[in-house]
Amino acid sequence: MFCQQCEQTAKGVACTTVGVCGKNEEVADLQDLLIHATQGLCLYSDAARKKGFTDPATSLFICEAIFSTLTNVNFDPKRFANMITKAVELREKMKVKSGASFTAPAATFTPAKDIAGLVEQGKKVGLKTDEDEDIRSLKHITLFGLKGVAAYADHARILGKEDDAVYAYIDKAMTTILRTDLEVGELVSLALECGEANLKAMELLDAGNTGKFGHPVPTSVPLGAKKGKAILVSGHDLQDLELILKQTEGKGINIYTHGEMLPCHGYPELKKYGHFHGHYGTAWQNQKKEFADFPGAVIMTTNCIQDPKAYMDSIFTSGLVGWPGVAHLGDKNFTPAINKALAMPGFSADTDKGSVMVGFARNAVLGVAGQVIEAVKNKDIRHFFLVGGCDGAKPGRNYYSELVDKIPADCMVLTLACGKFRFFDKQLGDIGGIPRLLDIGQCNDAYSAIQIAVALAGAFECGVNDLPLSMILSWYEQKAVAILLTLLHLGIKDIRLGPSLPAFITPNVLNVLVENFNIMPITTPDADLKAILG
Ligand code: SF4
Repeated sequence: MFCQQCEQTAKGVACTTVGVCGKNEEVADLQDLLIHATQGLCLYSDAARKKGFTDPATSLFICEAIFSTLTNVNFDPKRFANMITKAVELREKMKVKSGASFTAPAATFTPAKDIAGLVEQGKKVGLKTDEDEDIRSLKHITLFGLKGVAAYADHARILGKEDDAVYAYIDKAMTTILRTDLEVGELVSLALECGEANLKAMELLDAGNTGKFGHPVPTSVPLGAKKGKAILVSGHDLQDLELILKQTEGKGINIYTHGEMLPCHGYPELKKYGHFHGHYGTAWQNQKKEFADFPGAVIMTTNCIQDPKAYMDSIFTSGLVGWPGVAHLGDKNFTPAINKALAMPGFSADTDKGSVMVGFARNAVLGVAGQVIEAVKNKDIRHFFLVGGCDGAKPGRNYYSELVDKIPADCMVLTLACGKFRFFDKQLGDIGGIPRLLDIGQCNDAYSAIQIAVALAGAFECGVNDLPLSMILSWYEQKAVAILLTLLHLGIKDIRLGPSLPAFITPNVLNVLVENFNIMPITTPDADLKAILG
């Protein structure tokens, strides 16, 4: 195996024997083969589109296949084997529709009959076989960005929002990176286009979430427990959460969010449920301890799942998440999890662990835009820091909590995604009644952050790069790659990125990013604050 798609990759280079995430060689090879099979499907889907034929069901499958290979989503060999077979079946259908004929191995291979055979086929494919390291680096950037785009497009589709422009880009990019004649410049353009497609996908998801559940409103979320039976919902899927809330109504079970589900408490159509109690635990990398201590059932709706062997009988997966031996509720009937929660002890007493505020997405923040603009003009607000992105296990991530501690009291801190669990419960006070710490939402709510920045730039009649705003981002998996490409596509400069730079970016490619966007690694909180504030 050769995998370097996430931030925790072994030795900062690549996982070659087993993944730090728990992915074994068998699953890694099957993931490589699924990407290969999907590239063959995309060749024909792209050709069919050029003849005026599109098939939303095929495009949705392509998104699901790519999303399944994102870090910490699916570890189940059987489900990968089924998807590989389905990709080839769909490829043959699209071949007929397109009338085209390709000779590339991805377009012609026949899948082996069993998992062992598929694994052998998987060993022979993958971007590791590209020779030029800069070309491979740029192809990796695009492929990993595509995984983020596919994830957001899949979430949006679940909520009934889709746009063929996103699917068309995915087809084009998946097939373009098969080519061996590409120059650096062409691949840089393809990667920036990935950022554009991701902006569209995040916009669709924003429309899906706010259209169905309303615009988030500032909401206080308890961090303690309520006596009684309990279900913990993790991942990112708001639709799954709503179904769980509906299916547990009147059953005496309280519903808690975990990780990236925290912002769900701010959505009017979710917060209206009386048994939607509060938030439990912190970021994904602490789940082994937190899930083992939870006295009810746990449901993983999307990434990031870790090895659940200590609580195999009380964890359930839905959507694209999978772990061998874990009950998968693919039909969205959550009865097995509900029955498990009823059989478990639940919380024995009420506990008070304080609360946090959520719900400061674009509508809420722009609702007080006049106040914010006035405060900037009066110099009550000196600077905005967007401190957001993924969390992870590396010790270097303490940078982000230390930074927030040291940001001066006349500066605002905007945050999103699970990196905020390093500081989400800090009491940072307010500036003229506006809380200094504003939680915009999940990682995909980067769309909301962009809208806020664009609106502020409009109010101050300047560009986003001229605002008193600094972006200090943390990354872990491939949705963060997609968001970074979106920011670069929008021409945002001076982004600080940590805790370490991606292993798949070569020095030459990094130079391109530095020259064009002045992207830079984080250093120390003191040095970075001095550089930003003077
Ligand atoms: S996803 Fe990350 S941790 Fe898992 S195998 Fe790949 S690089 Fe390693």
